[in-house]
Amino acid sequence: MSTSLRYIKGVGQAQERLFAVLGVTTVEELIAYVPRAYNDYSDVQKIAQLKPGIVTLQVTFSNITARYVRRGLHITEALASDESGSVKIVWFNQPFRKTQLVANTQYFLSGEFGLSRQRMSIVSPVVERADNLPIHTARIVPIYRETKGLNSASIRKAVNAAFLQADRVSETLPQWLLDTYDLIPRHEALYAMHFPADVHDLAMAKHRLGFEEIFRLALASMLNKQEFAKQNALAVPFDSDFAKQCVGHIPFKLTDDQKKVLWRVFQDMERTHPMNRLIEGDVGSGKTIVAALAALMAMHAGYQVAYMAPTEILARQHAVSLQEVLAPLGYGDSVVLLTGSLKPAQKRQAHEALQQGSAKLAVGTHALITDKVAIHNLGLVIVDEQHRFGVDQRKKLQSKAKSMPHVLHMTATPIPRTLALTLYGELDISIIGVMPLGRLPIKTTIVSPNSRANMYKHVLQRLLLGEQVFVVCPLITESDMLQAPSAENVYKLMAKQFKDHSVGLLHGKLKADQKEAIMQQFIDGKLDILVATTVIEVGVNVPNATIMIIEGADRFGLAQMHQLRGRVGRSNQQGHCYVIPSDSKAPSARLRAFASTNNGFTLSELDLKLRGPGALYGTMQSGALDLRVATLSDTKLIAAARAGAEEFISKDENLLHYPVVAEHVSRIRTITNLN
Ligand code: ADP
Ligand code: MG
Repeated sequence: MSTSLRYIKGVGQAQERLFAVLGVTTVEELIAYVPRAYNDYSDVQKIAQLKPGIVTLQVTFSNITARYVRRGLHITEALASDESGSVKIVWFNQPFRKTQLVANTQYFLSGEFGLSRQRMSIVSPVVERADNLPIHTARIVPIYRETKGLNSASIRKAVNAAFLQADRVSETLPQWLLDTYDLIPRHEALYAMHFPADVHDLAMAKHRLGFEEIFRLALASMLNKQEFAKQNALAVPFDSDFAKQCVGHIPFKLTDDQKKVLWRVFQDMERTHPMNRLIEGDVGSGKTIVAALAALMAMHAGYQVAYMAPTEILARQHAVSLQEVLAPLGYGDSVVLLTGSLKPAQKRQAHEALQQGSAKLAVGTHALITDKVAIHNLGLVIVDEQHRFGVDQRKKLQSKAKSMPHVLHMTATPIPRTLALTLYGELDISIIGVMPLGRLPIKTTIVSPNSRANMYKHVLQRLLLGEQVFVVCPLITESDMLQAPSAENVYKLMAKQFKDHSVGLLHGKLKADQKEAIMQQFIDGKLDILVATTVIEVGVNVPNATIMIIEGADRFGLAQMHQLRGRVGRSNQQGHCYVIPSDSKAPSARLRAFASTNNGFTLSELDLKLRGPGALYGTMQSGALDLRVATLSDTKLIAAARAGAEEFISKDENLLHYPVVAEHVSRIRTITNLN
């Protein structure tokens, strides 16, 4: 199993190198190289009954002719016959067929039966002799991820040879797990992935292997959680008078969900084990204030707090708004901003303040951890929009403290619960499910790119009322490759359309201080319209902005557009979102769904179904989420695998008995481990 591919019959040195490109270097890896799709050629038909479409036949060949027509065109023709009749076969530019096909010999053939040059025929079918078990035809045929020079047919041959030569694939899971969850042995499952006897056989194989993938993920996160729980943390005593005082200074009434979550956080922080909690709440649900109150309690207890935001713009904004919240409580001066674009002198000053302890709340981006910042008395780390941070970054930040700080993560990416429990099993999850009172649901309208007049009219009305407008584009500059609107072009368009208003342009290619200056102008109301790329996606809070226009909308994921839409309607003003597809065809079901609901959970589930987990999680844990068989929308499988992992841990099974699982789990843990 662990031997090199070279020992497989038919695999030479050249092919071995090509397999390596696909990440396959051993026999075991080849056998575990699961197909990405299948062609069902299992139904062997009779020629007399053929209907147009993909067909499979068992035939003999006769009348084989080959002719050179002109440069670049060589035609081989043959008559394929079974006992019911004959059909014409044509191959283009495959002259070897003439010598390959032997008369009076049975062949399997799979291809498309249809009209070609006014005659019903099969063009360029796949052919193989029928005296062996078929590999490329007459069965459910696997298709693999290929690389130049190595196609699925070659991979099928190698896999077939590997199963003939190699030992049985050893079992990786305990027998009781197989019995309880109706899982077939690993060997049978892998064999069936490559050589499914029928659709049911394939489903059983996928169930077994998919279960194992999720089982490992769940196991990894549970083990992380156990380990995390063993660490010591400094307790933050709960001072109820102080809490009341803080809440009294907030200019609004906390929602019930905010109170509930806050209460959990205070309880968590009182323990001598580190809190590791994720707050999930749709955009605009008010997560920041919960974090601010937690920070206050930690500072009140004498600790320092690190607040990490995904972008500089956001860090700056948070620093300002936190200062406002903290000032009446006497902590206004203890906030320092620490971002990459600070001048060296400013940075030094911030560092010193943190080191000496006069600064208690450091707000920043990843600079908070890449810099050699010493935060001696770190009691709480707040990570905003946590899926934007690499796990390594979180680890580094946490290692800055002498003992483990409490950690509070916040995300607006609504993740279905079973999935969240599996992926983030090491986190406790709290949900803010209601919006602050008086918030009006955003109205979303789909606008055809060629009929913008009404939208412009409405935008002008809002501008005249002193409100502001965001326009988001998928690209910075026009591209020949992609038919999508660019921020630069749309900027010109808007400037022309709204001559009496000021329009700004913001994108990732600008220097950090330029970006910030423009964002600041928009926040201060000096710009009426901001045309931008998705740099404004997360978290920016400009309550006076009431219109969000999304250009080239089919280029964005639903969850992403929902984030963008969450940038408006953040006050008691009605928010509007205009969604403009790239072309004037009827809008897709996706866009219509987006326009019809304001529920982030519904949209992310739809995204999950339509575009897979990548759309939802971006780069989050992409290494760990390397699922080959399981799909994250299969909630039943996920629930079962999670239950299996729980049982496994409760039985106190030793992972050493399951080396393959152990190895995978440890790999996942190093990627996802928060310790
Ligand atoms: P998010 O959850 O997306 O981070 P924010 O924390 O930025 O949302 O809050 C969005 C806006 O709602 C902010 O302007 C905030 O001051 C306001 N807000 C938060 N909680 C409440 C509440 N309970 N009542 C009214 N407004 C609130
Ligand atoms: Mg936020």
